[in-house]
Amino acid sequence: MSFADSTDAACTKCKFFDNHAAKAHGDEGLCRFNPPVTQPSAEAHGLWPVVSSTDWCGHFSKDAMTTGMAN
Ligand code: SF4
Repeated sequence: MSFADSTDAACTKCKFFDNHAAKAHGDEGLCRFNPPVTQPSAEAHGLWPVVSSTDWCGHFSKDAMTTGMAN
């Protein structure tokens, strides 16, 4: 049994998930755990990692669970 199976881990249940409603694309959202990834050009905006509902990572924990909605 994997960690995800035993904890029901999923980005959409994580408090760091931002559904980015203004630019929603299917089940994708942004992970806000870390700051945006910097870009090679100083003028470019940093990028937040895009994650989907079936993604999860080792930063997920039950303490980070929400009702499934980004706050
Ligand atoms: S990648 Fe990890 S920290 Fe980010 S939303 Fe998914 S489970 Fe949460």
